[in-house]
Amino acid sequence: MAAGTLAEAGFAPVVAERMPSVGRKLLMAGKSGLNLTKEEPAPAFRAAYGGAAAELATALDGFGPAAVMSWAEGLEQPLFTGSTGRVFPEAMKASPLLRAWLAR
Ligand SMILES: Cc1cc2nc3c(=O)[nH]c(=O)nc-3n(C[C@H](O)[C@H](O)[C@H](O)COP(=O)(O)OP(=O)(O)OC[C@H]3O[C@@H](n4cnc5c(N)ncnc54)[C@H](O)[C@@H]3O)c2cc1C
Repeated sequence: MAAGTLAEAGFAPVVAERMPSVGRKLLMAGKSGLNLTKEEPAPAFRAAYGGAAAELATALDGFGPAAVMSWAEGLEQPLFTGSTGRVFPEAMKASPLLRAWLAR
């Protein structure tokens, strides 16, 4: 994601990865559904970060649940929100999202 942000700003970042391809941990994470974020109001979302919430406030405000969802949807990944508010790709796995992300 950092490399993508740099590329959009006109830089040409190099991504170094010791495995044969990048992002493999996401595939592991996606095995159980790939929970992308939790769709809930900012105060409740922040509260989940406990004592670190104040320190992370700028980051959470800058890239909160709505931004995460819009990022995934921008990669053509339809999402759904479960009964607990957790948000998943409809595909319930990470490979389509990872493929689209790497292509970008
Ligand atoms: C079973 C499981 C389920 C999960 N489920 C979810 C979930 O549903 N939702 C969620 O948000 N998160 C989930 N996670 C957590 C998520 O996978 C991690 O938080 C995320 O992958 C961390 O990203 P990262 O880029 O910091 O590290 P990583 O994804 O671990 O990336 C680090 C990369 O650096 C590479 N590397 C290491 N050393 C070197 C080196 N010396 N030179 C070059 N490359 C190197 C590694 O090969 C790796 O690809 C899950 C994790 C697991 C294990």
